[in-house]
Amino acid sequence: MDKEIIIMIHYSQRSKHCMWQLKFGICRLHTSSGNASSKEHYKVLVLGGGSGGIAMSARMKRKLGAENVAVVETSEMHYYQPIWTLVGAGAKSVASSGRPTSSVIPPGVKWVRSNVQEIHPDTNTVRTDNGMEISYQYLIVALGLQLHYEKIKGLPEIEDWVKFKIGSNYSVQTVEKTWSALQNFKEGNAVFSFPNTPVKCAGAPQKIMYLTDAYLRKTGKRATANIMYNTSLPVLFGIKKYADALWEIVKNRDIQVNLRHNLIEVRANKQEAVFENLDNPGETEVFEYEMLHVTPPMGPNPVVKGSSLADEGGWLDVNKETLQHNRYPNVFGIGDCTNLPTAKTAAAVAAQSSILDRTISKVLKNETPDRKYDGYTSCPLVTSYSTVILAEFDYSGQPLETFPIDQSKERWTMYHMKANVMPQLYWHGLLKGFWGGPGPYRKIMHLGMK
Ligand SMILES: Cc1cc2nc3c(=O)[nH]c(=O)nc-3n(C[C@H](O)[C@H](O)[C@H](O)COP(=O)(O)OP(=O)(O)OC[C@H]3O[C@@H](n4cnc5c(N)ncnc54)[C@H](O)[C@@H]3O)c2cc1C
Repeated sequence: MDKEIIIMIHYSQRSKHCMWQLKFGICRLHTSSGNASSKEHYKVLVLGGGSGGIAMSARMKRKLGAENVAVVETSEMHYYQPIWTLVGAGAKSVASSGRPTSSVIPPGVKWVRSNVQEIHPDTNTVRTDNGMEISYQYLIVALGLQLHYEKIKGLPEIEDWVKFKIGSNYSVQTVEKTWSALQNFKEGNAVFSFPNTPVKCAGAPQKIMYLTDAYLRKTGKRATANIMYNTSLPVLFGIKKYADALWEIVKNRDIQVNLRHNLIEVRANKQEAVFENLDNPGETEVFEYEMLHVTPPMGPNPVVKGSSLADEGGWLDVNKETLQHNRYPNVFGIGDCTNLPTAKTAAAVAAQSSILDRTISKVLKNETPDRKYDGYTSCPLVTSYSTVILAEFDYSGQPLETFPIDQSKERWTMYHMKANVMPQLYWHGLLKGFWGGPGPYRKIMHLGMK
């Protein structure tokens, strides 16, 4: 059948939800060339070629040889998402955030350019949207999470966002709209939302707010701007040490924080955002805006959710220490798609990758996994165009800082790390399977005391 016809059939069959996903490039249609009903087998099959999937493909190649590893990924481009914070504020280009997927797949590892449609762990098989059945001995699931812009009523078509002064750093299609909204800002409310769902990088919704504050000061517009952070959470940040520092900053910079406010509707023609008061369900408050930054609701990857690998919430059900699946011992998970009770970040993926590498080594030898993931995650809280608070913490919610200094202070050195060092660490360390997080360096910096 003609490729275009297939697309049309898929498109017409899918719901409004999926049409949104399509607009954001998230809904993967049958466009890749592949052999319908063909069969392939790999010793290790990796689902998803994002941060976790590529890091694990590189590690598995080193362990087992490239010919034994395959990764299923539809996207032609791989993005370093953390830099979108700076792209939305005009400090980096969107082009600098992406590289062709072909350039990050480890040489020799098979790239299956398809969309995973179903996972069948009882038969050790995966089905793709072009009818391919792939069997595996070991499966690593790294499918990320799903953005749900479509859940915000009235949110206009992306092509109209510039006109309606809306931006969102959370997708490659919308991140530059944030920068447009910032540049077009005249006077009035700059409103930033945080949804009532788990999110990736929980600091990102407020990082862009601090950058907006800095930009408006730099351009002389701050006096006529009212900056508001409307968050569903009951706190400004989940870890007290960093939350205390951030409360000081919002106070000093005259930023208004409205807790337990959840964005449910956008009336773009009137430039109004409607928030529900989560402490009083059904009660809403309308905010006029001159600029609106939307952080979309997020949820589990639908393929994981639709499989027997999911927990009750739809997330991949893994052991929080070993990352091995709780019911299928030959299945493992990494990153945003999992139910690991820590903040979803690339920094967490890095720490998880070295643990998972070790877990799989042990399982391959029929031994018991011995190294334990402590929930390490990190969030460089950008607070201006030259400062960052580097939050690092673990499952217990206690700070787990790499440097022997107080990281809750705004620092230029940490901004340099975020803007220049971490991208290099990502492309040349994590994705090549060499960067497993700062654990060993933390030990050295703290003279073995941490
Ligand atoms: C604005 C923003 C700022 C951030 N800031 C930071 C930060 O400062 N520090 C930090 O550490 N982290 C940050 N993050 C978070 C970080 O980028 C993610 O946590 C990390 O990329 C998760 O990696 P992953 O492999 O789990 O998912 P992803 O990297 O999202 O990869 C998932 C992959 O699966 C593919 N996929 C999904 N479904 C299918 C399917 N059905 N078939 C085939 N392929 C599929 C996708 O195309 C994608 O390539 C930020 C994220 C954003 C959006």
